[in-house]
This record gives sequence, C-alpha cells and structure tokens, in this order.
Amino acid sequence: MRDLNPKKALQQHLQTEDFFTGDFTIRSRLGGQEQHQSKPSADKDVIIELEKIADEVRKCRKCEIGYSRTNAVPGEGNSNASIMFVGEGPGADEDAQGRPFVGRAGQLLDKIIAAMGLKREDVYICNVLKCRPPENRDPKPEEIINCLPYLQSQIELINPEIIVALGAHAARALLNDNKSIGQLRGLFHEYYPGIGKPPIKLMATYHPAYLLRNYSHENRQRVWEDMKKVLEALGLPIPERGRS
Ligand code: URA
Repeated sequence: MRDLNPKKALQQHLQTEDFFTGDFTIRSRLGGQEQHQSKPSADKDVIIELEKIADEVRKCRKCEIGYSRTNAVPGEGNSNASIMFVGEGPGADEDAQGRPFVGRAGQLLDKIIAAMGLKREDVYICNVLKCRPPENRDPKPEEIINCLPYLQSQIELINPEIIVALGAHAARALLNDNKSIGQLRGLFHEYYPGIGKPPIKLMATYHPAYLLRNYSHENRQRVWEDMKKVLEALGLPIPERGRS
C-alpha cells in the first residue's frame, strides 16, 4: 500500500469528510436513545476465548513476519457484534500500536462505520494476517494458511450476522475464491464457519486503502452501496445523509 503525497492526502481527507461524515447518529424510533448495533447479550466466555486467541497470536512465530513485527494485531471490538470487518493485514501504524485499522485507512474505515450510523465499538475489526508483512507487501499464501485458523476461530466465537471483507485478499481468503475484487464486491457471498453450522453472509467491498488511492466519486459510491446492502440485510435504517 503506497502512501500518497501530503497535498493529495489532505485533499482526499477533505473529500472524505464530505462523503463519509456528518451527523449520522441514529436515534431509535421508539425511545430517542442511540441504537446499539450488537446482538442482545454479551457472553463473558466469548470475551475470554477471544483473549486466549489474542494471546496465542501474540506468541505466534509460525512465519517470518512473526519475527519482523513490532506487535501482533489480533483484532478488537464488540465480541457480540453483528458485523465483523476483516482487512488484509496490519500496516505500519497498526504494527506500532498492536491495534487494527488505526492508520489512514483506519480513519477512513471509521468514517464508513460512522456513515452507517454505527460506532467502532459496535463492530469487530480484524485482519486475515495478524502480523505486518514488511513494506506492506502482499500476504504470502503460506502466511494466509498459517494465520487463517485464528480468524476462523474469531468468526466462530463472535458469530456475526455479516462479515464485511475489505479488499481482495480478505475476500479471497475467506471465500477460497480467486476472483478479482471487482467481481466479488457488491454481492453477498456465503462464508462457511464449519460443518453443520449455517453459512454467514459475506459482503466484499473495496479496501479503504484502495479507496484512498483511487478516490473517485464512483468508488466511494460503490462502497456506500455495499454498506447500504449490509444495513438493509440487518434491518437497520440507512442514515439520511448517506442515502444518495
Ligand atoms: N490495512 C489492513 O488491511 N488492516 C489494517 O489493520 C490496516 C490497514
């Protein structure tokens, strides 16, 4: 993921402000209180099991990137979330902080989440790879194979209603499909969590870093259309200012 020059980055940031921010707070139709977009009851066991996975991830040295990382980035968010956002792998900021999507792509993801009328704490955010590939190179197949079981366990525990795969690497890894993101995005696919378990809906969309590099109105609109489908599938209202 290449960085933009500062002037272009600022220009894009301002444009992002325009499209993905605003007063998107959704008030419940009944009580005027803010909606919490998670499933009804939080389960302490799930939180404990997620922490066990995070501990394993932090100790993991299955790949060379387990040695080159500063911090592993297991994932974070609502253990009871209805929506799970899955990215490709940590970048430099995430590696430095041990938290997913905290750099520029993360700021855009936060805006997308806000545009959906949600908060970061409502959803779960993680990656296919839990360690940063040096120079943000693409994940290697063996790294995906080594790391995928952590993500599969996280999905099984959280059991979201919808997974949003951010970018081709996440969508391909979860769907075991080699199609391009252009072919995969905008459609609901099925992720199979295991034998005997019902499939989970998976929406593929552009990675926020791709969106930052290709910041056209069409691409932003495509991502927003994908997110509207997610909201519709969950029976959640589409915030007024994001309707266009
Ligand atoms: N890109 C990703 O795919 N994941 C992150 O956590 C940050 C940037």
